[in-house]
Amino acid sequence: MSKVDVKIEGMYQEVLKRNPGETEFHQAVLEVLECLGPVVVKHPEYLERKIIERICEPERQIIFRVPWQDDNGIVHINRGFRVEFNSSLGPYKGGLRFHPSVYLGIVKFLGFEQIFKNSLTGLPIGGGKGGSDFDPKGKSDDEVMRFCQSFMTELYRHLGEHTDVPAGDIGVGGREIGYMFGQYKRITNRYEPGVLTGKGLTWGGSLVRTEATGYGATYFVSEMLKARKDSFEGKTCLVSGSGNVAIYTIEKIHQLGGKCVACSDSNGVIYHEKGLDLDLIKRLKEVERRRISDYVATHKDAKYIAGGNIWDIPCHVAMPSATQNEINGKDAATLVKNGCIAVGEGANMPTTPEGVKIFLEAKISYGPGKAANAGGVATSALEMQQNAGRDSWSFEYTEKKLEDIMINIHRNCFETAEEYGAPGNYVLGANICGFIKVANAMVAHGII
Ligand code: NDP
Repeated sequence: MSKVDVKIEGMYQEVLKRNPGETEFHQAVLEVLECLGPVVVKHPEYLERKIIERICEPERQIIFRVPWQDDNGIVHINRGFRVEFNSSLGPYKGGLRFHPSVYLGIVKFLGFEQIFKNSLTGLPIGGGKGGSDFDPKGKSDDEVMRFCQSFMTELYRHLGEHTDVPAGDIGVGGREIGYMFGQYKRITNRYEPGVLTGKGLTWGGSLVRTEATGYGATYFVSEMLKARKDSFEGKTCLVSGSGNVAIYTIEKIHQLGGKCVACSDSNGVIYHEKGLDLDLIKRLKEVERRRISDYVATHKDAKYIAGGNIWDIPCHVAMPSATQNEINGKDAATLVKNGCIAVGEGANMPTTPEGVKIFLEAKISYGPGKAANAGGVATSALEMQQNAGRDSWSFEYTEKKLEDIMINIHRNCFETAEEYGAPGNYVLGANICGFIKVANAMVAHGII
């Protein structure tokens, strides 16, 4: 180990010691730190100024009680979180996740990733993330509303268009953003659209925000395919999940000439060899809030595999779009063996470190989430721009901006990987490129 590597390993050990039990956060930190050796050799000022140590420590962490009553009058207590990780490049920006698995370690891993992702977009946004261990599944609209109101009754004091601007994530879509915006407006007596993104189109939302993460991830994969002189045309694809990111990933794959044959949820997998019927999936998930197992009632030639593993199905392109660590080493090996040539992560950190190693060794095109799924937050930043200018842009104009941002992110990651002697390694490219911009801003701002 070089002297620099020993120093960085020491920093990682310190993160483990200071943040016990937060395994997802440890994993996210390690992936970034492992790439930074050659960067600090070029920039010794980052070591002197303790940039890495400071980046690993959130600027502020808020944990709060969220009491609410269900439809039978029974009182429930959940825990709310907002981790304001880094504001070097702009106000804290990142989604809220409502899922029973949420605890501080998940919010910190997501917030840490968000710093570099937001930096990669080239837009003026810092990194943050939040959420709750509340489970929206099976709750009535009124219960979700009461929960969101209680959550915002604490969170509102920490937000502001120049301070912290949350958005959606797992379990938080247009409905939840609406209830939270309503409560914010009521408490503060201010109509401030710039305080949340992912809003409805008639009250400050941006066209393309709903589609942005899935569309953006597909554009990123399209660029990776172009870099290997290929395209989506005629490719068989897998997209895990069946939520917001999955739905619009499938839509864009189909528009670009690919065929998506499978999607999933936490209970099982739908396999439809002739290609998924996206209109049906949208109706089941977005309108009727049902499970994808109901898909086979309409399509008798499709299969529902309860408890199945989507990554066992042969494909050319895989786009994990459900949750963290959904592709392990064995899944990655199966994908490679079955002829997969590209993986683009719509979800955050969906591949375990063993899986990442297998993809990199196999030299398939592997686009890590912090680069590939940055289109969502980028379009949130475009929503903020429209709100600040009291403007609203057309679908075509906004989508073109998103596409250009994704092409740019791809080019920056690709070129940074080449510059640091690891051509084709988008993990290294994304981590270094995202880090340097934040680090330079932190040096400029002094020891704060
Ligand atoms: P949604 O809540 O809309 O959908 C999530 C989907 O993933 C559902 O199909 C859900 O199935 C499945 N899922 C969630 N948790 C698990 C789990 N533990 N095991 C198996 N399946 C699971 O969320 P999004 O589509 O918004 O988010 C998906 C991923 O994309 C997340 O990693 C998120 O962080 C990431 N992301 C989202 C962005 C956005 O703009 N929304 C931006 C960037 C990244 P079930 O219904 O059974 O729970």
